Amino acid sequence: MASITLSKANFFHNLDIIKEQTQAIEKIALVLKDNAYGHGLCEMAKLAKEYGITRAVVRSNEEAQTIEEFFEYVLVLADTPKIPSKKIRYTINDIKKISEFAKDSLVELKIDTGMSRNGIASHEMQEALSLIKEQGLNLEAVFTHHACADELSGEYEKQKEKFEKIKKELSKYSNLRFHSCNSAALFREENFDEDMVRVGIGAYGCLELPFPSNAEELRPVLSLYAQKNSSREVNCGDCVGYGGTFSAKKSVLVSNYDFGYADGFLRSCAQGYKTPDNTNIAGRISMDNSSFVSDKEELLIFNDARDVAKYAGTISYEVLTALKPHLKRRLV
Ligand SMILES: *Cc1c(COP(=O)(O)O)cnc(C)c1O
Repeated sequence: MASITLSKANFFHNLDIIKEQTQAIEKIALVLKDNAYGHGLCEMAKLAKEYGITRAVVRSNEEAQTIEEFFEYVLVLADTPKIPSKKIRYTINDIKKISEFAKDSLVELKIDTGMSRNGIASHEMQEALSLIKEQGLNLEAVFTHHACADELSGEYEKQKEKFEKIKKELSKYSNLRFHSCNSAALFREENFDEDMVRVGIGAYGCLELPFPSNAEELRPVLSLYAQKNSSREVNCGDCVGYGGTFSAKKSVLVSNYDFGYADGFLRSCAQGYKTPDNTNIAGRISMDNSSFVSDKEELLIFNDARDVAKYAGTISYEVLTALKPHLKRRLV
């Protein structure tokens, strides 16, 4: 079986760096959506609590209920509850959906400042505030999400400016909180001064930015290992795996490992992938099997999802969230 190790030291180190950036641990809301970016929802929730994190962000109500015992505050990004919760906050993504939230729910209003994905338009603000009141909801925060925080186009500044305007307009509501930063935006800001940051990939140590920042100190938390099924001597000219895409140029020892795309390791990684110890993949990744030019009992497949992402032509988020919940996760 393949298995995952989670480095507590690296995770805590990342949280130290994030805390330096926010200047306050209470401002950190750890994004734990999608099985904590493949790391394991409960594993990471427990670690976060041990570190002293009190806030979490998830995608669904089900995820929120799974981890609410570990936090004081949980924000759900996309789900409409039937019954209100004292701890779980729900996101209003669309003005037309305000009527669907249960009375007395704690809600946060998302504003579309330019990503055109979720949130109400800024001109709908007053109408939304009235509807929220009519529906009997408790509005606690107003937030937005950046489309281009990790890009050097001017788009980030444009969205930021729009959100600053909204904050000013709403400044008379003194109990409202405001937040807009994901990991990239947090490390872009020299003087972070919002009430909260929603930090995901940075905490997991796989943030990539096109500008220098303290994020360079972050360290990947997750490593993937695979166990050997069998070994064989492959002779010159022999082929390995489906389609015979690996053909031995000389006699080599090839071992098969008990993991494949059914565990969430991308098939598109096969082309030229080398493990961190410089071990070559031999042929295609199949459903539950992958062959490498190696004799090791346990092979480190990757310890930095960014390396795999490069090979697969994707981003670390996709590599990490693809890892299936059935994989064993072990703290180291
Ligand atoms: C996923 C998500 C985040 C976290 O983004 P990172 O880039 O992983 O830090 C923050 N806010 C919202 C609304 C998200 O959907």
